[in-house]
Amino acid sequence: MQSHTPNGLRLPTIQDYLPLIGSEAAQRIQAKAQRLSDLHIINVNSTYYGGGVAEILSSLTLLMNGAGIRTGWRVLQGRPDFFSITKKMHNALQGGEIHFNDLKQDIYEEVVFENAARMHIDHDVIIVHDPQPLPLINHFRKKAPWIWRCHVDLSHPDPELLSYLSGFIEQYDAVVLSLPEYAQNLSTPQRFIMPAINPFSTTNKELTDKEIDERLSHYDIPTDLPLVVQISRFDKWKDPQGVIDAFRIASKEVDATLVLVGNIATDDPEGQDIFEALCGCREERIRVLSVQDSALVNALQRRAAVVMQKSLKEGFGLTVTEAMWKGAVVIGGNVGGIKHQIEDDVNGILVDSVEDAAEQIVRVLKDPALRKTMGKAARETVRTRFLMTRLMEDWLDLIASFEP
Ligand code: UDP
Repeated sequence: MQSHTPNGLRLPTIQDYLPLIGSEAAQRIQAKAQRLSDLHIINVNSTYYGGGVAEILSSLTLLMNGAGIRTGWRVLQGRPDFFSITKKMHNALQGGEIHFNDLKQDIYEEVVFENAARMHIDHDVIIVHDPQPLPLINHFRKKAPWIWRCHVDLSHPDPELLSYLSGFIEQYDAVVLSLPEYAQNLSTPQRFIMPAINPFSTTNKELTDKEIDERLSHYDIPTDLPLVVQISRFDKWKDPQGVIDAFRIASKEVDATLVLVGNIATDDPEGQDIFEALCGCREERIRVLSVQDSALVNALQRRAAVVMQKSLKEGFGLTVTEAMWKGAVVIGGNVGGIKHQIEDDVNGILVDSVEDAAEQIVRVLKDPALRKTMGKAARETVRTRFLMTRLMEDWLDLIASFEP
């Protein structure tokens, strides 16, 4: 494919990151990419939008292509009953309950088999994301490294489910997890790579005040009071009800508007019910919106006085890093990846309960100087640790380790 088109469209390149990462890092990453430029890589996940995996893949695959490595992305096709089963599996891997029976197992394995038949995977490196497409490996003669990239918080998985899935996982050449504390007792080597963000995407690029105002007014989001915002799929682990409860307590001391924005991914059939349950909340100062609008996400994270990510489980919260990049103070649940993204009271705040969250909302809203210093530290953390070039380099290093 041509890297430029006549109408000015072009692939992203490592050079684009030069002002953010410096020339030494840019040259190093480009040289590593050059060494792998004859490879053909494929990623498989289960949704084209909604959720962090799709967000990462949409940027990383383009940057890899921009650096000269042919990198593809296929999405598993499944009916809602398949995704209902895989969502239960996802929940159980994060510590929830599951009643996995033969019927569910048959549907899971059959849908993945049907996808395998249509996929014709014959690549040099195969990267399979999360549990949905995991059994694909059963259906190919293995000629190249297969890597399972698991994005969930795997610190307390359901043991029976993990034991069943291990039959697939242990056929892979490597498992990539976000953190060492998610490591499991598996025969497959485990590696650790934290996700990252694309600072030039619609979700993260710079916006003018006018553009922010336009997006907020499009959704009738009032800006007369400070905004408290949480942006997340409607998922019980994101604890949207906990955010509402914390906001109600905080509202006794400070005036603000709470905006909860979420989307519903095609591989997450629980989202609609959770959204509808939250809609019962009819207070004027609490807005709950279900919409997929990356520019709105960007505008809200930029305009918010405080961004919440009060998750109860979180492999790695991309929304946390996105908001930190915009200089927002993030109040995050003291769990999973968030604990490693936020250094408490330095570049954000970690909380353990609704009451704690309420207290911190009040504190941040009352202290503009704190917002400024923490916001500045937050952006710098992202610049040094969580940009897409660092993620790409980690992948290049891992892939190079399989090269003869
Ligand atoms: N997101 C979005 N619209 C929404 C909610 C989320 O575009 O209404 C994006 C968000 O900006 C982030 C991703 O979806 O890029 C969510 O990733 P995260 O790691 O925070 O959570 P996940 O959904 O993967 O559990």
